[in-house]
Amino acid sequence: MTADNDDIRARIRTIPDFPKPGIQFRDITTLLLDAEGLRLTVERMAEQVRGPIDLVAGIEARGFLFGAALAVKLGTGVLLIRKDGKLPGATIAEDYALEYGTDRIAIHADACTPGARVLLIDDLIATGGTARAAVRLLRKAGAEVVQASFVIDLPELGGADALRGDGVAVTSLTA
Ligand code: AMP
Repeated sequence: MTADNDDIRARIRTIPDFPKPGIQFRDITTLLLDAEGLRLTVERMAEQVRGPIDLVAGIEARGFLFGAALAVKLGTGVLLIRKDGKLPGATIAEDYALEYGTDRIAIHADACTPGARVLLIDDLIATGGTARAAVRLLRKAGAEVVQASFVIDLPELGGADALRGDGVAVTSLTA
């Protein structure tokens, strides 16, 4: 659920028409630059975690930042979900649809112990295409994706609902 986090929302800048006309880009670099904003974000994401977590998985690239901070707070390691072609070891991958064409994300094949309870992290969920592919990928690796947490949910794009439909608890801090 998206709680009332106006202090966090106020630290996120919206840049119109980036990277292309019509997109309202939520720029979290201003939140990251602000020590109190960053602290509050990580604290509140940690407070939203329900149940025991064995591993945090962060989606490239902004999900790495929040994912690593959450992992330190929760006392777990962090698994990197990368754009395909970046990881040096044997990988498993998952494709997902973009507006035009497809993209592919990957993890190291041995990154996750089967049965591990995983918390998935990214900065923002829009259509949910990226996060849903990440869930398929983690499940392929044998993980149990217990929760997905985002700083920002754009609910009108339906991604969080779709992810809930996939059987994942979804939380976010602001819209
Ligand atoms: P989606 O797969 O449509 O849910 O898009 C989520 C991914 O794209 C996340 O990794 C976001 O960082 C990025 N993204 C999508 N829309 C925006 C937006 N309006 N502002 C900033 N990042 C976005």
